[in-house]
Amino acid sequence: MQIEKDLNRIKNLITLYEKKYGREPGSVCLLAVSKKQSIEKIKQAASAGQFSFGESYVQEALLKMVHFDNLKWHFIGPIQSNKTRKIAEHFDWVQSVDSTKIARRLNDQRPDHLPKLNICIQVNIDNEITKSGISLSEVESLISYCQDLPKLTLRGLMAIPKPEQHIDAKRRGFHQLSLKFQALKNKGLPLDTLSMGMSYDFEAAIAEGSTMVRIGTAIFGDR
Ligand SMILES: *Cc1c(COP(=O)(O)O)cnc(C)c1O
Repeated sequence: MQIEKDLNRIKNLITLYEKKYGREPGSVCLLAVSKKQSIEKIKQAASAGQFSFGESYVQEALLKMVHFDNLKWHFIGPIQSNKTRKIAEHFDWVQSVDSTKIARRLNDQRPDHLPKLNICIQVNIDNEITKSGISLSEVESLISYCQDLPKLTLRGLMAIPKPEQHIDAKRRGFHQLSLKFQALKNKGLPLDTLSMGMSYDFEAAIAEGSTMVRIGTAIFGDR
């Protein structure tokens, strides 16, 4: 069971990095990113005890979800307006909210019989024009907009910093997001999720206070 082995390896590393950087044990949770991976692999991860999965493509995700009834699904990809209804109907979390328009549509399209939709605001730390996410300076205004939407629960911030070679450079981007997250919490916002860190940089993210790492390749292999 290669998937189970890789899952355990990643979980052990998370525990190790929590210790190494003085983080509370258990303060970092693992989102298994299963985009472009098979249903069979997701089944293996689920039987090894993994319950939260991240997907980036709506149609692909819906085809997978019908095979499971006890998993939590996080949407982590760019969001087109015409996809918000399916996302609002089928996901537990949306980590890539980056506009008032998308937030409003997710709220309005969230079915009444479902719990509130958990959301994170995606921040484009490096201000790369090709990437989703808003700049750090726009975070507060999008947050106050989302707070008035009754069917959304704002959980925190998410980012995908640009790739860097060295751990110090990787930490710098994460550090900026972490400062913003702390500042928002200090203002009294009840946020609990700082979603940052992927297969190649989750050590740096944990060092800077990540509470959720999103790992695909290191668990499931290449896509
Ligand atoms: C694909 C993806 C990941 C996982 O990346 P890996 O390098 O495979 O760990 C994490 N977050 C987002 C937003 C992604 O799109």
